[in-house]
Amino acid sequence: MNSRNRSAFIIPLLLLFVSMTALAQDQLVNDLVSQYENFKETSLNKRRIKHKDLQPLIEKYKNQAGITVTKVGESIEGRSLSLLSLGSGDTDVFLWSQMHGDEPTATQAIFDILNYFSSEQKNNAKKLLLKKLRFHFLPMLNPDGAEVFTRRNALGIDINRDALDLASPEGRTLKRVRDSLEADFGFNLHDQSKYYNAERTDKPATLSYLAPAYNYEKDINGVRGNAMKVIVLMNALVQDFAPGQVGRYNDDFEPRAFGDNIQKWGTSAILIESGGFLNDAEKQKIRQLNYVSILAALYSIATKSYEKIDLADYEKIPQNDRKLFDLKIEDVQYELLGNTYTLDIGVNYLEVDNASHSNFYTKGQIMDLGDLSTYYGYKTFPANGYKIVPGKIYFPKDGELPTKVKAYELLKKGYIYWHGTLNMEDNGFNFPMQVVSKKFMLPDFRLYVGLNPSFLLSKNGVISHAVINGYLINLQKESSYFRNAIFLR
Ligand SMILES: [Zn+2]
Repeated sequence: MNSRNRSAFIIPLLLLFVSMTALAQDQLVNDLVSQYENFKETSLNKRRIKHKDLQPLIEKYKNQAGITVTKVGESIEGRSLSLLSLGSGDTDVFLWSQMHGDEPTATQAIFDILNYFSSEQKNNAKKLLLKKLRFHFLPMLNPDGAEVFTRRNALGIDINRDALDLASPEGRTLKRVRDSLEADFGFNLHDQSKYYNAERTDKPATLSYLAPAYNYEKDINGVRGNAMKVIVLMNALVQDFAPGQVGRYNDDFEPRAFGDNIQKWGTSAILIESGGFLNDAEKQKIRQLNYVSILAALYSIATKSYEKIDLADYEKIPQNDRKLFDLKIEDVQYELLGNTYTLDIGVNYLEVDNASHSNFYTKGQIMDLGDLSTYYGYKTFPANGYKIVPGKIYFPKDGELPTKVKAYELLKKGYIYWHGTLNMEDNGFNFPMQVVSKKFMLPDFRLYVGLNPSFLLSKNGVISHAVINGYLINLQKESSYFRNAIFLR
């Protein structure tokens, strides 16, 4: 066979191989999505998870054949750091999560993935993954930060700036484990602000990816190139579930960061950032996307299908930007000192933790005012022709109960404050009026950055919408997404 004939023969075979792997990959993804509920670790269904929530799960795996649990270190406050390893392949993959204590989404996904591997269910994809790869999971690298739901560790440092100094025991553990494994691939799992969007679109960056640079020149060697290729594959997959909702994280070299150094040390480092998704405050949808896309990425590593991916596609993923608000109200009329002005309002829902950092309520806050035409909203309300109307206080009669039906009736009549007390835990509840104490004095109405947005909107003299604690309520439909009102004392 001359070389021309040979290549004519090889190319169809190669295409057949590629399309077969692609088919198997599609099948895997379909199975992962349709059977997710079987593997979801339901004991971890809120973002404020703690070290103690993980220990019963880790204990369970200590007794399971095929899984090795090793204590690899301790946090400053003495919480154990565990490495869970499984699989018998030659390619080592190291996945660590939550080096920032308030970034738990991937920790939950890691336990979903562990459930997938440890379940009785047998299938070809799982068999292949365990045969070709060896996985090492280090969930919740910063348990002290997780305890108080904060980014930094107990020493007050950012572990992700400690790769060179290694001042923290958590950073030293990460380095030691990386070095002992000399892993081929490393997944550095984080959360990012939900206010990131894919640049110049109103789509949140539900997931953002980065193959960190290992030098200021941002060179691409084989190690970094492989990370980029796997990211291209994950991006394509996530597009099916959250179209347009993927961003590419800034790749400026940060000499002190772990991702950048791990790339330099020879492990293909993949950073995954879990961002935001509409009406998903606990990020459970994003957790599922982590689970599916990480397993699909592992499959492509096991089959080496990622090797055929075009590196140039990495640059086509839109960059992350930070131009989102929870609510954007456009072109609303606001009356101040006798004159009427037209402006946009950007509102975010800030999370306020309870004392034990086990739950939170949200507090609406005006973030910006004026021309916000370069910004977007998870929810956008074009308010042309609408006027802001300050709300009144309602004084309930004896024994009158604050029901939702009553609230909608009152909102339409211009009341937004309910005078009295309610027995409610956690300072937040699902009654769509602000509750005010006996001492509360109605202030002169102002819109200003930093203030809580609570007012009504009227058009042609009819009150049709309310904004309570930053949540927009359509009074005609009575079906808006509303998380909580707040008490004003
Ligand atoms: Zn982070």
